[in-house]
Amino acid sequence: MATRKALRDKYQRISAKLTELYGTPKWRPRYAPVDELVDCILSQSTTDANRDRAFAALKARFPNWESVRDAPTEAVIEAIRPAGLANQKAPRIQKALRYITRERGSITLDFLAEMDTAAAKAWLTAIDGVGPKTAAIVLCFAFGKPAFPVDTHVHRVSQRLGLIGEKTSAEAAHAELEAIIPPEDYYPAHLNLIAHGRTLCQARKPLCERCPLTDECRYFQAQQRASRHAKPKLAEEDSNL
Ligand code: SF4
Repeated sequence: MATRKALRDKYQRISAKLTELYGTPKWRPRYAPVDELVDCILSQSTTDANRDRAFAALKARFPNWESVRDAPTEAVIEAIRPAGLANQKAPRIQKALRYITRERGSITLDFLAEMDTAAAKAWLTAIDGVGPKTAAIVLCFAFGKPAFPVDTHVHRVSQRLGLIGEKTSAEAAHAELEAIIPPEDYYPAHLNLIAHGRTLCQARKPLCERCPLTDECRYFQAQQRASRHAKPKLAEEDSNL
């Protein structure tokens, strides 16, 4: 098991290569905090394109979040159907909006700016259906706070590279990666690991032959060892023919 110092050093070497490949994304807020929260709920188990279509449809159909909160659930389901799992996501969105209203008197998350990151995370994850990924996305993307979101790409790439344990769940990976990535790197590291997962380290067939991270990659090295062990066996079988 690598020490935390070894993992931090490894992250630095990986980060330098990812920066060469994908640059240094600069933080800028994308959506207002409540929009970010709703967008993130819509993104669960779907593509970015379908999430975007559903988010745009929701904004086009309802003038504000109060009207989404108070609408018949069927109308919200109808609007967000392109995102898939609309029957689950619509009540989840409405419940979150009701929770915020109950706790704060109106639908705003702006007050999180004044909280420290741990307290803001705790506040968000108290909302039913909001886990560590959604909380980290809202805090990192909308507020520029030091929270590191782990989506499916970040989880897969970090696991293959050996930045997290082979069996670490996506949920547990939040704390493991936050412990080895410097907080000022959370935003660019998140985006560059996603870029790598989309372009080279794809889920089904990673394009290792084009990847500059083979020296750092636990998955690649395990594959190499497996193929070295497989070759003598084949040679033996050939000689028996
Ligand atoms: S070497 Fe292969 S598995 Fe490892 S990070 Fe690169 S593409 Fe992914």
